[in-house]
Amino acid sequence: MEMKTQILTAEQLDVAVELLKNGECVAFPTETVYGLGANALDEEAVKKIFLAKGRPADNPLIIHCASKAQVFNLVTEIHPEAEILMKHFWPGPLSLVLSKSDIVPKIVTGGLDTVAIRIPDHPLALTLIERSELPIAAPSANTSGKPSPTRASHVYADLASKIPAILDGGSTGWGVESTVLDCTVYPFRLLRPGGVTVEELREFTAVELDAGVYEDQQNNEKPRSPGMKYRHYSPNATVILVEGDNIPSRINQLVKEQDLTTTKVGVLATSETKQLYSGLTVLEMGSRTDLRQIAANLYHLLRQVDELELDLVYVEGLTNDQMGMAIMNRLRKAAGYKVVYS
Ligand code: AMP
Ligand code: MG
Repeated sequence: MEMKTQILTAEQLDVAVELLKNGECVAFPTETVYGLGANALDEEAVKKIFLAKGRPADNPLIIHCASKAQVFNLVTEIHPEAEILMKHFWPGPLSLVLSKSDIVPKIVTGGLDTVAIRIPDHPLALTLIERSELPIAAPSANTSGKPSPTRASHVYADLASKIPAILDGGSTGWGVESTVLDCTVYPFRLLRPGGVTVEELREFTAVELDAGVYEDQQNNEKPRSPGMKYRHYSPNATVILVEGDNIPSRINQLVKEQDLTTTKVGVLATSETKQLYSGLTVLEMGSRTDLRQIAANLYHLLRQVDELELDLVYVEGLTNDQMGMAIMNRLRKAAGYKVVYS
């Protein structure tokens, strides 16, 4: 359905609250990326999220709460170590997969008996949830398959005329989505790396990495995290990730094989090596020594690739440690797992 999409300022937050209470969906900022929220307990409202995003029905949504009391209503049991994680990392970019209670409709969980939940660390998100007095189901507010939105303008570019409103809170802080941790198995299983690193989690509990962290799950019939089987974060351009010890020279060598009169080639480069590419469109991700900065810039840069109408983009690989695990996970997906080693 076509509709006019309002951009709301923080002062107009109550307009968003009313929309949520009336079974509509609204995009809002969190500390990770913008979410597209609706009342998690209202099937019809949740349907609107799937429709606006073009999201496959088996890809479950994360429910956003403002308090632990609200969380306890949605689940049946919580492992004691999961409670410890809640204490240390909430509010924050950590979604915990727990067994769901009967009040959570299956449309939210993609048919699963488990539900992913978190308390976001963003004043507008928290106020919105508190004032609506509802648990809010919210996936990233992008068209399915596109890079997640880190600015209100990104949401507008994807969802204008498909949703009634976007609450504008400026750029989001982290820039990559929350970490998704399955706490229904022990050791807990990391399904998606994100804002909270596996190193940080392991200070409190045992964590195993799901295969989806590194490998393509597209042909996996039953991945533990259904979202991981879908291609994600992809610009229209062909993206190639280059890893190893001689990245700039390998990229320059690969560029030589291209006909630059017909192919518009770009590089996503770190600050340390950006000057090593001549005659190419270079987009600067940030310094290798500041992975948080790279995470914050990542999705905006992937969207710029399309705005600049690049045909082919080489991306410099980074470490898989700390925040690098989440960034590299998204880059492998953006590249459709096309990785070259140098
Ligand atoms: P997004 O909403 O774009 O942040 O995507 C949500 C992610 O959380 C997807 O990768 C889902 O597969 C994952 N997720 C949500 N709920 C569950 C669940 N109950 N079990 C496993 N993974 C989940
Ligand atoms: Mg998403």
